[in-house]
Amino acid sequence: MNIHEYQAKELLAKYGIGVPTGYPALTVEEAVEAAKKLPGPLYVVKAQIHAGGRGKGKFAELPADAKGGVRLAKSIEDVQADARDMLGNTLVTVQTGEAGKQVNRLYVTDGVDIAKEYYLSMVVDRASSRIAMIVSTEGGMDIEEVAHSTPEKITTITIDPATGFMPHHGRSVAFALKLSGDLAKAAQKLSKKLYEAFTALDCDMLEINPLVETAGGELLVLDTKMSFDSNALYRHPDVEAMRDETEEDPMEVEASKYDLAYIKLDGDIGCMVNGAGLAMTTMDIIKLNGSFPANFLDVGGGATTEKVTAAFKIILSDPAVKGILVNIFGGIMRCDTIAEGIVIAAKEVELDVPLVVRLEGTNVQQGKDILANSGLSIIPADDLGDAAKKIVAQVKEAA
Ligand code: ADP
Ligand code: MG
Repeated sequence: MNIHEYQAKELLAKYGIGVPTGYPALTVEEAVEAAKKLPGPLYVVKAQIHAGGRGKGKFAELPADAKGGVRLAKSIEDVQADARDMLGNTLVTVQTGEAGKQVNRLYVTDGVDIAKEYYLSMVVDRASSRIAMIVSTEGGMDIEEVAHSTPEKITTITIDPATGFMPHHGRSVAFALKLSGDLAKAAQKLSKKLYEAFTALDCDMLEINPLVETAGGELLVLDTKMSFDSNALYRHPDVEAMRDETEEDPMEVEASKYDLAYIKLDGDIGCMVNGAGLAMTTMDIIKLNGSFPANFLDVGGGATTEKVTAAFKIILSDPAVKGILVNIFGGIMRCDTIAEGIVIAAKEVELDVPLVVRLEGTNVQQGKDILANSGLSIIPADDLGDAAKKIVAQVKEAA
């Protein structure tokens, strides 16, 4: 789960990490009120969307030479004008895709006198099975570009979970950022606190770009992105409350209500599968047969009829879906339960695309009978290869 910049900064501040003062705003009036609480004379009005590249972004509704989604304002009147410009409009950045994202929230924050911009991020690194801290002196810019053209300017430090964050990790961060004296000490403290926050909050990604050295010699987090391990959210109701569903894919939001693992993809064959491994295999075999999956969907091991119905409706609500492949192995989940769910859902939602079903496992015959007697035009398949061939052929024929 992702959160907004202002929410991430609120969390980091609780761990004693330095961030500029700022307030969120949902309306132009709130933006003005926020600015009045700040000392001035320099304010920054920042669009809050779950995507980066806002500074260089463009608003679809504004002239091409209008300012982007991060604006320096020199007076309260400027803050007001910028808030009017941004709220409700669509910001297109390198990370939003062409459609862009509507700006519904702003963050009005202190303007900082920047001496230098740095980069610092943290991820759970699968290769080393550790949390990795990635730092670079090249902050504020596109880090992918830095990684590509000057990889020597990026340093990765991994932290052994058994010992946790040690003083030498902090020194390595300060060294990689070429800091000395008080700033080096500040970087050591900051990186230790970031590690504490990252582990305590069950983050899976934290990116600070830029981390800045101010003219006054302080280190401040100027921009940050944070995302959390969804499976650990139950431990953090305060973080869960920060969820902004308007930023998420509506189908993925619906799926999460039923505890379904659903990810929207670009193809045209909807998949309903139980078990993540089987779901991956199903996507592979669709590709092997020359088509692309429209989604990844794992209904889980112990799904109920309600869950299957919900899954089916979510797949069908995607206009890109031109055919559906249901591939179920009845282990914990019985084939008749799946079959009932399919029949109920297909009757509730008008099924106007071909549907291929492959069932195997517990109560497979009962399941097949339910489908055969349902009066629905369901194409049965004997095995996975057969199922993939059939659905791909059906979709290609209809095209
Ligand atoms: P994004 O990465 O989405 O473009 P940032 O918050 O990183 O958004 O802002 C882009 C640039 O704007 C920063 O690299 C920095 O130079 C400037 N900036 C952002 N916030 C402030 C601030 N509070 N004071 C001064 N400059 C800022
Ligand atoms: Mg940034």
